[in-house]
Amino acid sequence: MTIKSFLLMAFTAIFFRPVFAGTPVDAYPAEQVAAHTWVIHGPLAFPNPENRGFMNNPGFIITDSSVIVIDPGSTLQVGQGVLNKIRAITDKPVTHVLDSHIHGDHWLGNQAFRDAFPKARFYAHPAMIEEARAGGAENWLEQMERLTQGASKGTTAVIPDHALADGQEIKVDNITIRVHLADWAHTRTDAMFVVVEDALLFTGDTVTNQRMPRMDDGSFRGSIKVIDAAQQYPVRVVVPGHGPTGGKELLGNYRRYLDTVYTEAAKYRDEGLEPYEMKEKIAADVAAFGNWSGFDGEFGKHISLAVLEAEQAEFE
Ligand SMILES: [Zn+2]
Repeated sequence: MTIKSFLLMAFTAIFFRPVFAGTPVDAYPAEQVAAHTWVIHGPLAFPNPENRGFMNNPGFIITDSSVIVIDPGSTLQVGQGVLNKIRAITDKPVTHVLDSHIHGDHWLGNQAFRDAFPKARFYAHPAMIEEARAGGAENWLEQMERLTQGASKGTTAVIPDHALADGQEIKVDNITIRVHLADWAHTRTDAMFVVVEDALLFTGDTVTNQRMPRMDDGSFRGSIKVIDAAQQYPVRVVVPGHGPTGGKELLGNYRRYLDTVYTEAAKYRDEGLEPYEMKEKIAADVAAFGNWSGFDGEFGKHISLAVLEAEQAEFE
């Protein structure tokens, strides 16, 4: 190598690495949770002007020659912050981006990766792609801009164009991502990802920890079914859609919440109680979850939704 080409390479490495200043992700470290996998555990509050929309757990897997990103966050700026964190660890290109479901806090950050890596492939559940194209993307862009009071401005939707299949394996160098799709769990668009070589599971929002998710688009019984299936996966590390990473106990813990709310709501409904009359009784049964972020806002809705679902179950 000549001195000239060496200098050119050094210059390129220093000056053409995208580094974005002052992103919503800066204060949150990328933590290595397995041999090849890192997670940035985001804040737990819903999108607001302070967190500038950042609230999920973006993850990335470093293979022999590239980087796979899971759920790059809620806005262009969050995606850029995730890219900064990756760049602090490796110069390998991002070649694959996998989105877990339709909720905008998980995937509107795609744009940062499309901008930086025009050849990267974006993957999601076929129903997620369909819903995003049918107005879901616009809806989430508007919600994010409203909730963050404009902090997400400039974000456009990069909707995945590679539809995942249940049981599909995406092989990238030394890493295999096994895909598990659900019909109806947290939403009708959920994908879970097993990083086979790391015995690690990304659950999306079908499992959360320390943060109550919205269930407005979800099914209690469907979620429980998917969690029961996930109990059989050969994994040791579980990365939830929100909140701290842990082991398989995360699955059973959140399942206990869903099952208690659904079973009790169905029981009290049979006894003729209205949702507002059963709220305090069920709250006592799920007291262990009372300190989860978003509990006060979501719990009452969860009961109403569980009652509705129990009502529909009678007609099946
Ligand atoms: Zn969600």
